[in-house]
Amino acid sequence: MSDEVYAVELRDVVKRFGDVVAVDHVSLQIREGEFFSLLGPSGCGKTTTLRLIAGFEMPTAGVVLIGGEPQGYLPPYRRPVNTVFQHYALFPHMTVYENVAFGLEMQGVPRRQVRQRVLEALDLVQLADLESRRPHQLSGGQQQRVALARALVNRPKVLLLDEPLGALDLKLRKAMQVELKNLQHRVGITFVYVTHDQEEALTMSDRIAVVNLGRVLQVGTPEEIYEHPADRFVADFIGETNFLQGTLRALGPPLQVEIGGSLKVSAARAQQGLAVGEPVVVSVRPEKVRLSPPEEAPPAANRVSGRVEQVVYMGTDTRYQVRLPTGETLTVRLQNTEAGDRRFREGDEVVVAWEADQASALRA
Ligand code: ATP
Repeated sequence: MSDEVYAVELRDVVKRFGDVVAVDHVSLQIREGEFFSLLGPSGCGKTTTLRLIAGFEMPTAGVVLIGGEPQGYLPPYRRPVNTVFQHYALFPHMTVYENVAFGLEMQGVPRRQVRQRVLEALDLVQLADLESRRPHQLSGGQQQRVALARALVNRPKVLLLDEPLGALDLKLRKAMQVELKNLQHRVGITFVYVTHDQEEALTMSDRIAVVNLGRVLQVGTPEEIYEHPADRFVADFIGETNFLQGTLRALGPPLQVEIGGSLKVSAARAQQGLAVGEPVVVSVRPEKVRLSPPEEAPPAANRVSGRVEQVVYMGTDTRYQVRLPTGETLTVRLQNTEAGDRRFREGDEVVVAWEADQASALRA
């Protein structure tokens, strides 16, 4: 075992609530200074995992370490972490300054130091000029920044964020994503970020753990997770993909998958432990597929003829549904780069083509 000290480490952690296994043998290693996201659908156990790190819950089994120290039964206020929640619960009768200063004053930090640290924290979240406003005089985004400042003022080793942008409208959310990422860069604190929004996780994170049913399915950089999904759930949950149903015929490389009884396609990657004869899906992203008239089909590992069934113009790109001879449909996305680009119409005979290294064979 490596003796690297991680900002946060979970070793085989289990959390049960009665019959519900909210966290099911989770092991994670989060590095110092990392922006690390826990991503998964509602109810998958992300929040419980965060609460176990924070000390609001105690594990049924396993160990939580922060900075290499096992946390045992330490309560939240004894752990070097702070949490920012979706509902930020600011004190309504206090000013921005007082909200941020409150925790430090309770700890008996001398007044001059409090002032210096609060101003520093407000500066970090770009609220220095609003220090004397009260929460109701602030926008949702500004209130969330006060909540962030209130956490940062304690100079935690790790900041835990539970869907902190969940209450904001889409535009503000996007702006805050960029801001948060920049802020994390500047302060260098480890962020552990819970979200069910895959786009948000892809945009902000250094690494992501994809969680489902209490288990971690894959940990990787956004690119690794998008380009090399470990299983069908991850491929489906992250971005958009096509699944072609088939049977694994040869392990290769490249793997050969038979689709619809006659068609063979090849894939460069496969989920671990697949056996020949097993039902699989071939996952290929819509933007990795090329579309051309039959007479102009480019050379490619996989070429299948089909007919365009639907065309949807989406501004930056156009989405085509192509019916294959096997009866399945394949979604293809082509960027609308230039006015002169070739466009296809409903009913057009086409060839869809993709390379083996753009496709993964995953357990069906
Ligand atoms: P969401 O995105 O909806 O918040 P989540 O992924 O954060 O979901 P958790 O809140 O961690 O999921 O919940 C995981 C599972 O544990 C769910 O089935 C939930 O109902 C259950 N659970 C969580 N807290 C408790 C509790 N205090 N008592 C009983 N069951 C709980």
